[in-house]
Amino acid sequence: MTDSLSPTPAPPSSLYEELGLAPALNGNGKMTALGGSRLSDGVIAAMAEAARSHVVMDELLVAAGRDLAAATGSEDVCATTGAASGIALAVAALIAGEDLARIEALPDPGGRPHEVVLPKGHAVHFGAPVRQMIALGGGRPVEVGSANKVRAAHLAAAVGERTAALMYVQSHHAVHKGMPSLAEVVAVGREHGVPVIVDAAAEEDPRAWTSTGADLVVFSGGKALGGPTSGLVCGSAALVAACRAQYAGIGRPMKVGKETVLGLVRAVREHAAPSDGGQVGRSGQGGHHDRMARLAVRLDALPGITARVVPDEAGRDIHRAQLLVDPVGAGRDATGLAAELAAGSPPVFLRDHHAGSGRLAVDPRCLTPEEEEAVVRRLRELLGAAPPN
Ligand SMILES: *Cc1c(COP(=O)(O)O)cnc(C)c1O
Repeated sequence: MTDSLSPTPAPPSSLYEELGLAPALNGNGKMTALGGSRLSDGVIAAMAEAARSHVVMDELLVAAGRDLAAATGSEDVCATTGAASGIALAVAALIAGEDLARIEALPDPGGRPHEVVLPKGHAVHFGAPVRQMIALGGGRPVEVGSANKVRAAHLAAAVGERTAALMYVQSHHAVHKGMPSLAEVVAVGREHGVPVIVDAAAEEDPRAWTSTGADLVVFSGGKALGGPTSGLVCGSAALVAACRAQYAGIGRPMKVGKETVLGLVRAVREHAAPSDGGQVGRSGQGGHHDRMARLAVRLDALPGITARVVPDEAGRDIHRAQLLVDPVGAGRDATGLAAELAAGSPPVFLRDHHAGSGRLAVDPRCLTPEEEEAVVRRLRELLGAAPPN
């Protein structure tokens, strides 16, 4: 009882330590560079179950596809290693279908329609270029319009005999102003009989995207959906079967394992019907507003720090504790403070998109309450604040 207020020690992570690595405290959000999502106990259990036994992989992929389809509002789903491979498989499927000779010839499209037309402002780099993922699947990316101005007419004018697909990228990396809407892209596709691929990698609500009339919608399983490093391609039964067929070709080096597939199924079920809204790795419960408000009060007492709770800029249900760093009072500016936190032990990563204007933020989604305490301790140590009494 007397110890009930002291933080629970972090679980041992001895293999990381044997490798000379210190597990990071992730106050930045869902970052691929920090390993994506922290998995729920349910997802970890599903992956462990898969790891302990064998299964006929083709049957697993089909059965998982049915389950993922129910949770995402699509007819069928192809499980993948990520959204990036999902793009390559989707493009390959639209070029080669289920024809084994064509599948084995890719990425050479062998004279088949293979151009993938996309707005110039959507040709983003998410860690690697979208263009390259299209090319991996045998496609030739065709960017239309200008970086900040693309009309549906630009897309329509580029569609011809060689067109395999239109592509729409939903991302904070993409240019938003001046781009055609997804509805307009879908309308161009319908009019010309060309399928539309949507990259909705980091989106929270799969159903909002599978109901847009797009033919194939690609998601990352390891981002908003809280799954292991994985992905989904959602669409009609015929097109998704063609995506799965690519595992006999260009999909082979993107092979998805049984542990990943079962973990993804479990994560998507949990995402669709959360029973634990407050769990680490989810927003939920008012987006952690009260928790971050309490944290802000504590951080506000640190030298040189003015802290308050702020809502997500993109309107998602997330609240963060924002730190305004006064370089005089804090002894270093926001950029310096973020760098010292990241280089310390344990390494602490805060949101630093606005460090240049003196602001850092603590994102609650990937921090346990114990880790949140450790973040406060590190800030106190660095800023030389008196220890709490
Ligand atoms: C992250 C991201 C990807 C790649 O997703 P992975 O699951 O990491 O392969 C593709 N497109 C966009 C827009 C992304 O944000």
